[in-house]
Amino acid sequence: MTRVALLGATGSIGRQALEIIDSHPDLELCAVTSGTRSCDEIAAAHPGALAQVGGDPTTLLEATGADIVLNAIVGFAGIRATLWALEHGVTLALANKESLVAGGALARAALDRGGGRLIPVDSEHSAIYQCLEGRELDAVESLVLTASGGPFRGRTREELLTVTVEEALAHPTWAMGRKITVDSATLANKGLELIEAHWLFGVAYDHIEVVVHPMSIVHGIVRFRDGAALAHVGYPDMRVPISFALTYPTRAGTPVPALDLAGGLTLSFEAPDLEAFPLLRLAREAGESGGTYPCAYNAANEVAVAAFLEGRLAFLEIAATVENTLEHVGGTPAASLDELVAADEEARRIAERRMVAA
Ligand code: NAD
Ligand code: MG
Repeated sequence: MTRVALLGATGSIGRQALEIIDSHPDLELCAVTSGTRSCDEIAAAHPGALAQVGGDPTTLLEATGADIVLNAIVGFAGIRATLWALEHGVTLALANKESLVAGGALARAALDRGGGRLIPVDSEHSAIYQCLEGRELDAVESLVLTASGGPFRGRTREELLTVTVEEALAHPTWAMGRKITVDSATLANKGLELIEAHWLFGVAYDHIEVVVHPMSIVHGIVRFRDGAALAHVGYPDMRVPISFALTYPTRAGTPVPALDLAGGLTLSFEAPDLEAFPLLRLAREAGESGGTYPCAYNAANEVAVAAFLEGRLAFLEIAATVENTLEHVGGTPAASLDELVAADEEARRIAERRMVAA
């Protein structure tokens, strides 16, 4: 029996994870958490599972003795659970990319001390994790993250001036929570994923590429020095990476159909438009600057996306807010969680102040 603590159980990833857990006799739910909505019903349907709404989930984690923590909380709020699991050597199935983006150095150090396993749930990173398995990093030339390009692919900056919340929430290939859906429309999601990949795989930023691939069939590619490239392909369905992480290394079956190749499958790729979608460029810069710049990037983006969703900020102002914030933070590395939380709070304050209201 593998005991799973599912954090953010009421969300998009959380609900798909429940489906995987419930369909697998060897997986047992031992704890669930949610942000504001009650998760009592989920706990009631899983005898023995503890539930918690809001607050710091680490006390709950201490009490449950989970074998795997699936962190599907959205945003920086997931940081304590990420660090707790890594520090305690409990397998961390990580959907909550924001915690690794903001706290990458602390997380790596906790992983080293804890000696556990960190398995990405983000589809691109799960793909790359699988392409890399058992291979020497020396042989790797670069990692390639694929991006769908979101609902605004092909639009110019001018054409993005007036886009609405509804348009931003209409993602062409993935059905996800609101925050990540907006991030996909601005390409901040790919920016976060670039930094996430750096920390997960220990690869320098100039060896991580981003390419737009609208149909979301190729999830990730690893190029090797001999000219070979390994790609991970499949339908865009988060149950695959969730199941991979929860049943590692056995790769249990899922209801996701096999890829239909004979039906005619065309794959296309193009370069991302960094001018229309500056958040991808800004993420690379924040990542390369290091310290708490990625934390500030994430914090400002969270603040700006929330304001956009509330109708307080225009779409293009999300990137402008992040850029402006990054110019005003110190970026000093955080030596502890407290220092990281302080950097996050500082960036949020600056972002709120610098936001140009819609
Ligand atoms: P969501 O908004 O659908 O769900 C978020 C969950 O976190 C909910 O259960 C919510 O109650 C909980 N939550 C929110 N704020 C919280 C807080 N302050 N403290 C504790 N819990 C809180 O989001 P989602 O789409 O499921 O995404 C979750 C994470 O997975 C994000 O980091 C996202 O980037 C990542 N991710 C999602 C997908 C996807 O397909 N949805 C794909 C890849 C990565
Ligand atoms: Mg992804």
